[in-house]
Amino acid sequence: MQRKLGKVNPAAPDIKSIQCYVLDMDGTVNLGDTPIAGAHELIGLFRQRDIQFYFFTNNSSKSPGDYVEKLTRLGFTGMARRHIMTSGDVMLHYLKTKKERLSVYLAGTPELEAQFRAAGVTLLSSGCPTADFAVLGFDTTFSFEKADTLCRLVSSGVPFLATNIDRVCPLEGDQFLPDCGSMAALVTHATGVEPKFIGKPFSETVEFILAHTGVPPEQTAMVGDRLYTDIKTAVNGGITGIAVLSGEISYLDIEQGDVKPDYIFPSVAELYEALK
Ligand SMILES: [Mg+2]
Repeated sequence: MQRKLGKVNPAAPDIKSIQCYVLDMDGTVNLGDTPIAGAHELIGLFRQRDIQFYFFTNNSSKSPGDYVEKLTRLGFTGMARRHIMTSGDVMLHYLKTKKERLSVYLAGTPELEAQFRAAGVTLLSSGCPTADFAVLGFDTTFSFEKADTLCRLVSSGVPFLATNIDRVCPLEGDQFLPDCGSMAALVTHATGVEPKFIGKPFSETVEFILAHTGVPPEQTAMVGDRLYTDIKTAVNGGITGIAVLSGEISYLDIEQGDVKPDYIFPSVAELYEALK
């Protein structure tokens, strides 16, 4: 069968009408420490045309500043905090839509704690008797004390939220770290309560993006190399999904999968060519 590339959903908006691009990082604009060919040119084109662009990561363990540094190391110039979106940002947006003044028990890294405090959220200490929400991040500083506090709060009826559903965080050479989804499973196993996950692929991510950018959904696109996170986010949120084959998924995966992108490009280099 002929491989169809470019626009694969006839009902999708014209690619040239997109005014806001949300890009996945690993597998989409970089492979580890190497930028993917065409990525620098694509960002240059966005700047030239005043098209909004953001890099989105489900990883809530690092600060947005860490990603600014990483992108700068990868040769992207002029990167700033405003170009970075994390599942932590989505969580804060979600919490703020629920309640203005929040007292939260957060099991997260010091970086995520700092992000919450900067947003005006009161963080409660381990052992606190109650909270507005019990929130779990990808916490590489997780401890028994934190697990115990989460379990007590959640079993007493405090709403349980988690930044991202990922079971593992892949590392170089087939290694991985246990991610937020696995830590949440510990609390669920103990309490019988499932968390509400917030980051990719859930609709809260797109709700945050649209509220933050002010660009309508028909002019917003998500670009990524994973069907069940990046492209599913676009499908769930009603924005354009652009799949690139430079990372995790192959053309065959898309043909056989039940999550369908609107556009398919071998890499961001071809997306750049289509926009030029
Ligand atoms: Mg990726």
